Amino acid sequence: MLGALALALLAAAPAQGGGVLDVVATSTDLKALVEAVGGDRVRVESLAPALHEPHAVDLKPGQLARLKSAALLVRVGLDHEPWLARVRATVNDPRFAPGGAADLDVSRNIDLLQSETPRVTSDRGPHVHGFGNPHYWLDPVNARPITQTILDGLARLAPDARGVFDRNRVRFLERLDAGLKRWTDTMAPYRGARVVAFHDSWPYFARRFGLVVVATVEPVPGVPPTPASLAALTAGMKAGVRILIVEPSTSRAVAERVAASSGARVVTLVPSVGGDAEARDYLTLFDVNVRRLAEALGGAR
Ligand SMILES: [Zn+2]
Repeated sequence: MLGALALALLAAAPAQGGGVLDVVATSTDLKALVEAVGGDRVRVESLAPALHEPHAVDLKPGQLARLKSAALLVRVGLDHEPWLARVRATVNDPRFAPGGAADLDVSRNIDLLQSETPRVTSDRGPHVHGFGNPHYWLDPVNARPITQTILDGLARLAPDARGVFDRNRVRFLERLDAGLKRWTDTMAPYRGARVVAFHDSWPYFARRFGLVVVATVEPVPGVPPTPASLAALTAGMKAGVRILIVEPSTSRAVAERVAASSGARVVTLVPSVGGDAEARDYLTLFDVNVRRLAEALGGAR
């Protein structure tokens, strides 16, 4: 009996050593993935809220303090976080400089889309997808390389817990694979469906589930459409585009105008974990988005 009790207590106790790593992630999606791998060995905060204008974030003083004392900064990379330069200058700690000891850029093992896009310097505004499309977490298969990079980053700081991180990741990937089967099956009838997206957030998601993003409402990522670009877009959409993908932060007025003049149906997808009450973690993020799309595509045929 005592032996069993001791085992039960051991199982309930934090992993060996028990040290908890303070991690700061730049997005709620990366927070969710760090938690999936780190389990009870990590305490994670996201610098960006779930919903915000793509790539513009203002930090509160408490968050800066949190970053200063963090063991690791986990970020999307590319030009996804133009606001991070200012944060780094304020925190002024070489550990968080790009490539520094506490800096983890999870884009490094990702097969990027649109990486041939001509480089555009940032003086015309933040976030132009100048180094490849940075919305790669929206392909659930990319959670494999992302969580591998996270696992290596965490294990470097807590080598004793590598086995724990490894087991946590395996369990997460099993649930991810079950989700992938579910999402792929749901989307199968709509392979080849042509869609327009407001911001170019969905190329990875579209590739995974067989959608074709034929155009974006923003002529350049982060740049609002002009009347002329909207007219050209809606004229083109009349040829077989029935779905307009927007996000909760999208200008509703512009979306409704595009829908009205093109006849397309507006579908609001959730770009990040927590952006909708149902999208409470990385897997339910896809449950919500796949369901909304399938409902819209099913109704739009
Ligand atoms: Zn973007």
